[in-house]
Amino acid sequence: MLAHILNPVFYEFNPYAVPTFGTAAAIFLLGLLVLVRERGSLVSLLFFLVTLAAGLWLFGFSWMYCAVTPEVALWWVKAAHLGIVLIPSAVYHFTVSTLNIYQQNKKLVWMSWALSILFFVSILTTDALVNGLYRHWWGYYARYNWLSVPYLIFFFAILLQSLRHYWSDYQRTLPGTRRQRTKALMTAFAIGYIAALDYLPAFGLAFYPLGFIPVLAFIGLMARAIWNYRLVDITPALAATKIMDTMADALLVLDHEGVVRIVNQATCRLCGKSEDELVGTVITAVQRTFFSSKELDSLIQSGDHRDYEVTLPVEETGPATLSVSASLMRDPNRQPVAIVCVARDITERKRADELILRHRERETALHDINLATTSTLDLQTVLDVLLQKIDRLLPYPVATTVRLFNGATKQLEPVASRNLDGEEWKAEEWAAGRSFASDVFHSRTKIMAADIRRDPRSSNAPFFEKHGLVSYLGVPLIAKGETLGVLSFYSKQEKIFSDEESEFLSTLAGQAAIAIHNSQLFERMKGQTVELEKANKVKDEFLSVMSHELRTPLNLVMGYTEMLKDRMLGEINLEQDRVLGRLLGRAKDLLSMISGILEATNIGSQTATVKSDDFNLSGFLNDLRSAYDVPRGSSLALTWDIPSNLPEMKTDREKLRHILQNLINNALKFTDNGEISVSARYIAKTRMVEFKVKDTGIGIPQEALPSIFEMFHQVDSSETRAHGGVGLGLYIVKKFAELLGGTIGAQSEPNKGSTFTVTLPLIYVADRS
Ligand code: ADP
Repeated sequence: MLAHILNPVFYEFNPYAVPTFGTAAAIFLLGLLVLVRERGSLVSLLFFLVTLAAGLWLFGFSWMYCAVTPEVALWWVKAAHLGIVLIPSAVYHFTVSTLNIYQQNKKLVWMSWALSILFFVSILTTDALVNGLYRHWWGYYARYNWLSVPYLIFFFAILLQSLRHYWSDYQRTLPGTRRQRTKALMTAFAIGYIAALDYLPAFGLAFYPLGFIPVLAFIGLMARAIWNYRLVDITPALAATKIMDTMADALLVLDHEGVVRIVNQATCRLCGKSEDELVGTVITAVQRTFFSSKELDSLIQSGDHRDYEVTLPVEETGPATLSVSASLMRDPNRQPVAIVCVARDITERKRADELILRHRERETALHDINLATTSTLDLQTVLDVLLQKIDRLLPYPVATTVRLFNGATKQLEPVASRNLDGEEWKAEEWAAGRSFASDVFHSRTKIMAADIRRDPRSSNAPFFEKHGLVSYLGVPLIAKGETLGVLSFYSKQEKIFSDEESEFLSTLAGQAAIAIHNSQLFERMKGQTVELEKANKVKDEFLSVMSHELRTPLNLVMGYTEMLKDRMLGEINLEQDRVLGRLLGRAKDLLSMISGILEATNIGSQTATVKSDDFNLSGFLNDLRSAYDVPRGSSLALTWDIPSNLPEMKTDREKLRHILQNLINNALKFTDNGEISVSARYIAKTRMVEFKVKDTGIGIPQEALPSIFEMFHQVDSSETRAHGGVGLGLYIVKKFAELLGGTIGAQSEPNKGSTFTVTLPLIYVADRS
């Protein structure tokens, strides 16, 4: 069939089709223009629908006039009628929308659409409306069947109803734009309807269908009306209605007697009633409402405005919290006229606020717990603080316990509890909830039980029963990947711990675990320190006793040797005298070594004391000089630079002597030729005395310099080293210098020599050391 329709052979030119073609194009164009001009608003869309339907009618009829076979003509008749049957519904819908009375007439709007669709379908599927053709003198024309009667009744009834709406709107409105527009639209439609005369030839009357003429007039009038007044009149009233219907807040306006006058959709939803049910009802008769007579009273008493919150039991969505703002409006005589009530649903906001608040509280709590548990390293205190904080944090009564794994016994042991008889709990062979706790410990995940008094996993139901412990949540205490123990919560009411809650308590447990881990480490370290101290003390005591016990026999040996050498026990030959001399020399070395060890252990155990003597520094140094005699002819020179005006010094004289002697002896020991110079100067600005011992000896390699002051340290500690000593000298010198409130430093270059500089305060002040 379609091949026929599209085949030009089946058509011929018919001058009678020209005006209908032109009108179809014109009306379609008008629809498009309006659609563009009104930016695709609903009203312009509806108008476009009207033009589309009318366009289809005229277009179809034009082809029908040109058709040369009845089949092709009939096809076009049916196509045209698909548009015709839509005309009344589109016009009606357009009318109620432009007049802004859709809400009141929506039933009729959709009823007419339903009927239009019915006719539409009947054309597609049956011949009930159009069942054939007439061959009039101007061409083919539709022949109507029985359905045309109800159809025409429908057609005229709907169009009449549209006109009626225009008419009553025209009469109701005051002179102005709206009224003029209504009039213009009404006229355009009224004239357009004359085109209905085109139905006559469908009943056999050979009356040339001039329907396109009123349609052309309709187009002209409509275009003018739209261009002059637009389609919709934007008035404050229209805006108000639109705003009210689209606003999310519920609006309720009552008159002074409390009768509902205006409501919007949001109010209907909240009150669970339709607009018809609400409007005209006294507000006190409405069961579920956000404004009651109580508020009415307090509004009248408390002034003209009232803000309050109310919760409405909305079945569909659960309780809704509303923030209501009610205002009383008065007339010029101050008489109440109306009450305007606006309610905003703040349920979501409230929920969000509460959530934020809870989050903030928890963050603060975590921070507090963190602060509290990390401010101490004592395990018991950490646990006590933790449980105490948790107790304050949880809004319901709960008993908490901590069990920690003891590596030595390989047991999960009870260590702390709160809101529970601690002794009894521990005495329960720590069985209370043991099965849960050990499950948590081994699985390293949290475990929950709704009722531990009846839970089959529970190992000690009577204990829980007795203490009124109902629900359980256990979270593992994990720090650095190691499970330290279990933190358990026993609520005193049946309780399902929410995901959020157990998540939070797990975070808290993670934090607590770190604090526990730290304090356990600290305890372990403390234990080790005590052990170390003990060992050190034993060593010091041993050394001090040993050196003491060695000195006595050594002194005896030296005494007898001297007696022998001094020939007090009889004559000796030269060889014997030389050997005794060497014996004495070595014994002296040994004695000084032992004294050094004794001194060093004294310093180590901090029992060394500082005496403070007043003495003349120049005199002291001269005295020291006299103890050093360098044999004449030696290649080594020992020079002393002692200014005569050195001030009086107040410090431990013996310790100072020890320091200088040691440095000079070292210089002598490590210098074969060249010069050793000892100098002293007073630095008035800092009230310090600076001593320097400089030699041109073997020097010390740079890398060894920092460690020469360490105990038992020697640059050359090999068995074959050329110089004696045990590496205690400089250690003691440094300690002494520090005891006297001073410092020591060394500069050296291998094979060039070394310089040791000691700086001491002129006046020793006890607490500086
Ligand atoms: P010791 O009793 O072995 O001399 P010290 O503590 O007095 O111990 O010295 C430590 C090491 O420092 C010495 O073994 C030596 O190697 C080096 N040393 C000290 N003084 C000098 C110096 N004046 N010249 C070169 N080396 C020195």
